[in-house]
Amino acid sequence: MEAPFALAEEEAAPRFRQRLSTLGARFARAALDTLFPPVCLACPAATGQPDALCAQCWGRMRFIERPYCERLGTPFEQDLGPGLISPQAMADPPVYARARAVARFEDGPARRLVHRLKYSDRGELAKPLGRWMARAGAEILAEADALTPVPLHPLRLWKRRFNQAAALAHVVAREAGKPCEPFLLARVKATRSQVGLSRAQRAENMQGAFRAPPEAPLKGRRIVLIDDVLTSGATANAAARALLRGGAAQVDLIVFARVVTGA
Ligand SMILES: [Zn+2]
Repeated sequence: MEAPFALAEEEAAPRFRQRLSTLGARFARAALDTLFPPVCLACPAATGQPDALCAQCWGRMRFIERPYCERLGTPFEQDLGPGLISPQAMADPPVYARARAVARFEDGPARRLVHRLKYSDRGELAKPLGRWMARAGAEILAEADALTPVPLHPLRLWKRRFNQAAALAHVVAREAGKPCEPFLLARVKATRSQVGLSRAQRAENMQGAFRAPPEAPLKGRRIVLIDDVLTSGATANAAARALLRGGAAQVDLIVFARVVTGA
C-alpha cells in the first residue's frame, strides 16, 4: 500500500509546482517575502526589495564616478576637464586600454560583496553586481565586440566549482546585449596566491599565466575582460597581454571593485 501512495505523491508534486509557477507566481513571491523578507546584499538588514543594499550600506558604498583617469578609471579629487590621464597611468601604463569599476574595494561594503560572491554560496549576487558593472562600463561596452572573463586555472575551478568572473561576465553581457565568449582565454599556469606579494612579485607570478587558444576568434576584435576585483593590475595585464598576442585589436577591463592608491 505504501509504494503506490508514494508514487502518486511524487507525480502530484511537479504538477502542483507547475501550477504554482504559472498561476500563483506573484502570490507565492509575496508570501515568500512576508515569510522571508529580502535582506541587504551586504548585511543582515531587511530591505524593501530583493537584490538591493540597505540604506546604510548604500550610503557607505564608495561608488567611482567622473572625474576619473580615462585609462585607469581611478577617481580624481578635482575635475580638471575631460579626457585626462593620471600621472600613474602615464608613468606605468597598463596593458589594457581602459579600466572601469563600480566602487572602491578598500572601504565600504564592496569588499564584503566581493567576498560573498567568491566564497559563500551566493552566486545570485552576480546579477546585481553585474548590472552595476554594465552601467559603470557602458561606454566601453557600447564599442565592444565580445566579453570574456578572467579564467581560473582548471584545478582551482574544480575545487571552487564557481568562477565569479564568469558569472559576472554572463550578466554584464546580457545587460549590454553583447556576446560572452568564455573560451577566448585559457589559464595555463597554476599561480600561487597574490596575497602578501609585492607589485613586482605579482607581475612575475602572473607571467605566462594566460594564453589565447590558437582557434580563439580574436583577430581585430575589441574585447572586454571581466573580473571581480582589480588590485595591482598584474592579473589583468597578463590576461590583456595574452588577448593582444592572440590578435585582439583592443582590450578593456570592467571590474566590480578596485583598489585606489595614490589618487
Ligand atoms: Zn546593509
